[in-house]
Amino acid sequence: MSNLRELQKRSTVCELCSHDEGLQPYTVIPKEEQILVCTPCATQLEDPEAIDSNHWRCLNDSMWSEVDAVKVVAWRMLHQLKKEGWPQDLLDMMYLEEEVQQWAEATGDHIIEDENTIIHKDLNGTRLSQGDSVVLIKDLDVKGANFTAKRGAFMRNISLVHDNAEHIEGRINGQQVVIVTKYVKKSS
Ligand SMILES: [Zn+2]
Repeated sequence: MSNLRELQKRSTVCELCSHDEGLQPYTVIPKEEQILVCTPCATQLEDPEAIDSNHWRCLNDSMWSEVDAVKVVAWRMLHQLKKEGWPQDLLDMMYLEEEVQQWAEATGDHIIEDENTIIHKDLNGTRLSQGDSVVLIKDLDVKGANFTAKRGAFMRNISLVHDNAEHIEGRINGQQVVIVTKYVKKSS
């Protein structure tokens, strides 16, 4: 499923709320699978500040979708809204296969953070954790070291710089270095 026409074979309306206004693909990161969404859904998925919790009552139906990617989006949105009460009731009824559950949790959006929490994410928006392995996606001049870390280089067992969401630490070429998160991709 990778383009609008393919998605429209699966559904002729928004797969979340069944409206048909401004249908467009929405990519359910970190996978490349897409679902068909309407403009109001797309706007709110992209901008948490725009979320109108009543709009998402539609998840009462779409959380039972046969499409895993739809379930993942429903699960993430219900988590974002769960302080409203009713979304928690829906979450309690929801069951995801283990692999789908991991997909749903991959962005870390389900964890309610206070504003001081620092979250490290790779270029795809996948949450990074202490001890993860990452791959560099471009050549980087390493500050304070006289070498260039090459694209494709692995950094294993990373540490998160606790006061900077954009920095992780690890070893490359045997040297301890700090790397900017937007230049790495989590490696599985
Ligand atoms: Zn919609």
